[in-house]
Amino acid sequence: MKRSWEKDLPRKQYQMFKKIEQSQPWFEVYDLGNQIYAIYEPYQFQEVISYVIMGEEKAILWDTGNGIGNMKQLVNELWNKELIVINSHSHFDHIGSNYQFDKVYVFNHPTMIHIMEHGIEQEVLDQNYGPETYSYQSPIAYQPMSYRRCVYETFNEDVEFDLGRRRFKVIYTPGHSADSIMLVNDEEKLLFTGDTYYPAQLYCFTEGLFDDYVKTMDSLASKYSEYTLVTSHNEPIRNGNTLIEVANFFKKIQNDEIAYKLVGNLKEYEDEEFNLLMK
Ligand SMILES: [Zn+2]
Repeated sequence: MKRSWEKDLPRKQYQMFKKIEQSQPWFEVYDLGNQIYAIYEPYQFQEVISYVIMGEEKAILWDTGNGIGNMKQLVNELWNKELIVINSHSHFDHIGSNYQFDKVYVFNHPTMIHIMEHGIEQEVLDQNYGPETYSYQSPIAYQPMSYRRCVYETFNEDVEFDLGRRRFKVIYTPGHSADSIMLVNDEEKLLFTGDTYYPAQLYCFTEGLFDDYVKTMDSLASKYSEYTLVTSHNEPIRNGNTLIEVANFFKKIQNDEIAYKLVGNLKEYEDEEFNLLMK
């Protein structure tokens, strides 16, 4: 029987893209055009999406997913030149296969460094990777998760990754987490948003971080509303105008113009379009 999070599956946007053959049923890979490939994990409730972004000489792997399938093997089937592995932030569903790669590039931030050094707590993994988090259609049997360390190197804000005729700049976008970053390509007007924006309930679980989230969204709305957003959960593509709408939604929350509902010890804010869960 379908689980509650599967009610909207399969997600419609994927019909627009060519599905790429690869050897692992856990993943679905889609060609988004412009040498961008979405690696979607539809059989776990996070529905996380990682990306291979190719240039002439190098490619970026933007996040490594849940760690359930073999991400390295998958990427090897798509790309055989130099690979730069980058994490959008330190949440467990974006760093799961880090350990499979020789080296991962991460943002130089205490939250990120802490996770790289100490890992994700087992309790957090058990809560988020229980058998009920897998789809009833999952091609892989449930397997308990445990964190595995990786080799990492840090970078700072504004660093550029040159892939050969294609460059991506890192911007710092705190809010969803304290260590969230995005990748920007100004020539192609592309913004890889990580978890700062994706088309689903948004989260701000770090106490006191919402004010930063409002500032981040405001700044993004003023700079990138004409860009294409490439997001990290559920569906890959959204229009940059969405940033303006989310920024307005956040400002209403900040100004106490939207009533919240308590969900355990979290506050849930909702309007017709957006939903935010906050500590
Ligand atoms: Zn996250």
